[in-house]
Amino acid sequence: MRQEIPGKTALDRLANENGIAIALIDETAHEVYVANNNSICRELNPNGEFETHCKAFCGTAFEEASEVGETVSFTCHAGLECRVVPIEGGERPLVAIIGRTFLKAENYRRATTRAISGDWKDHSPAEFFENVLLTGSATVLDRTAARIGGSAKKLKAVGDERKPQKLEEVAKTETVEEPAAEPVRKNPAPTVSNIVARFNRELGLGKETVRAVPRAEPQITEKQVEQKIELPALVPERKPEQVVEPAPQVLATPAPDVPVATAVPEAPKPRSNEQRAAEARAWRSFFGSLLKTDHAKAVESVLEFISLQYGLSALIWLERNDKKLVNTFAFGAMKNRKLRLGIAADDKRLIEAAQNEMPLELVERPKDGSPQGDRVMNLFPIGVGGEISAGVAIFEKIEDERVRRQIARFCQSIAPQMEILRLRGAVARGETLSTAVRRFSESLRQIDAEDVWIKLTQNAAELLKAERASLMVMNERTGALEIKALIGGLGKPGKDDVVGERVARLVFDKNKPIIVPDVAKTGLPPVAASRNYKTPSFMSCPLSISGKAIGVMSFADKASGQPFDRGSLNLFHAIASQIAVAIDRASLKEKAGEFEQLSVTDALTGLLNRRYIEARLAEEVKRSNRHGFPMSFMMIDVDHFKSYNDQFGHPAGDEALKLVGHVIRETLRGADVAARFGGEEFSILLPQTGPEEAWAIGERLRHNIAETVFPHRVVTASIGIASCSADLCSVVHIVAAADKALYEAKRRGRNRIMAFEQI
Ligand code: GH3
Ligand code: MG
Ligand code: MG
Repeated sequence: MRQEIPGKTALDRLANENGIAIALIDETAHEVYVANNNSICRELNPNGEFETHCKAFCGTAFEEASEVGETVSFTCHAGLECRVVPIEGGERPLVAIIGRTFLKAENYRRATTRAISGDWKDHSPAEFFENVLLTGSATVLDRTAARIGGSAKKLKAVGDERKPQKLEEVAKTETVEEPAAEPVRKNPAPTVSNIVARFNRELGLGKETVRAVPRAEPQITEKQVEQKIELPALVPERKPEQVVEPAPQVLATPAPDVPVATAVPEAPKPRSNEQRAAEARAWRSFFGSLLKTDHAKAVESVLEFISLQYGLSALIWLERNDKKLVNTFAFGAMKNRKLRLGIAADDKRLIEAAQNEMPLELVERPKDGSPQGDRVMNLFPIGVGGEISAGVAIFEKIEDERVRRQIARFCQSIAPQMEILRLRGAVARGETLSTAVRRFSESLRQIDAEDVWIKLTQNAAELLKAERASLMVMNERTGALEIKALIGGLGKPGKDDVVGERVARLVFDKNKPIIVPDVAKTGLPPVAASRNYKTPSFMSCPLSISGKAIGVMSFADKASGQPFDRGSLNLFHAIASQIAVAIDRASLKEKAGEFEQLSVTDALTGLLNRRYIEARLAEEVKRSNRHGFPMSFMMIDVDHFKSYNDQFGHPAGDEALKLVGHVIRETLRGADVAARFGGEEFSILLPQTGPEEAWAIGERLRHNIAETVFPHRVVTASIGIASCSADLCSVVHIVAAADKALYEAKRRGRNRIMAFEQI
């Protein structure tokens, strides 16, 4: 249980001011108090008892820091940076964990991925990311650690005189003390408040707005952004830093298609104090409103703000996509220009520009060697944690260096908010996707053999919010695509129909999807008016098993009237393999020849056989690698089965295996693929399933087998689980890993499950 701790208000203030978390841990390794906790920590460790992976980090902090007797540093399993300082001499010994903040963009990005599609995806994104802490530099952690450590020393000294003083009092005295000499930092980590403060100072607003003098530079969290912006300045008044500025760089443009900049703004006239104050107000109120919107709207308003504030008209927003910054939104004069910009996000010049708070100026040098024209692009980097994640490109010459610098600072200062907005979007999309996939696989369970084609198509159409859909499946005998289902159509699609045979055939032959935003622009024959399509957009996707196309599903008339897009395709991809399996099975059932069925099903148990599951596993592993979907694989071996045969005879053994197959089928979900791997071994493929969920399913299965009444005696099984991960991403390795885990389960006494990760 967390308790009231003296000094907590001081801790709260310290934590909030610095945008970090401060937790107090007692000798029983429990969190007794925490200020400004990172929401990720709050979710992973709700009771302060460190029962999960946190055990090895925050859970052992007390032990380690007390043993060492001084500050200990670590980066935890979640990628959060922490400092631990021992606090002795109080009523009982404690340690303070300071930080729980992301210092490196890559750790932060990894956390995002885990929350979207990995092992954290079951946490509610709204709560998980409610108060994510991002810190620009480690200095703030070290300083706060030193400060708390200092307080603790005093506490100890006072305690030694047998006059116990409360931590709160110590912290109070501590805050009014003169700050220790600070190392001069050339380029302080850009944070919203210190940038705004410097901006104020530059505009002549510094003196009257400086209110507090904290020694640590203020950092920001999502929660604090707005309120901090309202505070005019939190940065001590220092002498303006001497920044050595490199001359503007003139470089050959990497992209040949940078357009000519036309309107060169007039050199700005010196502005009055009033104008400057108005500018500062505008800036602050802009920051305050940024987090209230979504990423796309924020991008638009950032560009609009720069355009209005600095009289610029040709702007483009670049967003990091893998290793490149690519343009994602154009504004003003750039709106209808065709332009392909791809600039390496880790371009040294760009990182330098970010550090110098200046844009990277690129001037196109014509190929014929003639003197440079005025094709200029100013690229303002935007980044968090030392990594460039976005940028604003301005296709105009900006004569006034102060304006260049101000825009550069503005761009840096919006970085954390933009990152939070991007993250919110990604999490919401990921959540929509996984909910959709779950629902779809549940819906598959309801389908029976009779209406399989219609139901499959209907369910997929509902998911994609398409009012019309069709399913065509290849008839291997005739070599033609057969229409198996039509939803919302007016009849059979004809040759002139967009989702008709021609397009479907193309999609099938190329085994590649087609998204058409507007049929009129494709050169395809116009759709017969009698077909009454509401929108000109459609999407047609192949369905394949082990890389071989088996059919095509097409969608038209999105209920919203919007065209189909990448998002629609992603959604389809997420359910495509489930559809393909269902089609494959249904086709097999339809086939008259028993032989075909025998070739993929196991005669004794009716489950799929090893040949089939290995092919499907290859398919799933590929999908998991490509889309980052989780996936798990399970090997099951009946315990002491030899003796069952020996005691009760082989036919009785067969009956028992049949019963095991039945229990497996009953326990699994619609999308899971179960097979008899051979002898008394079974295997299960769990698509879209991470290690924790797989464990739960394995445990349920083990339990169900053990509880089932077999004719002669209790039968149990051991289970090994392996989940797809960066290290485990090929069929051979996953099967071997599950096998190893199974062996370990046997070794540890049978009737149990083991995950490969545990070994
Ligand atoms: P454990 O797995 O717990 O280590 O012990 P076990 O006795 O099950 O050992 P093992 O896996 O090596 O033995 C497998 C036995 O399963 C051998 C064989 O008697 C029996 N078995 C394998 N396939 C079949 C089958 O199709 N029908 C029957 N009735 N028995 C089979
Ligand atoms: Mg065996
Ligand atoms: Mg066995």
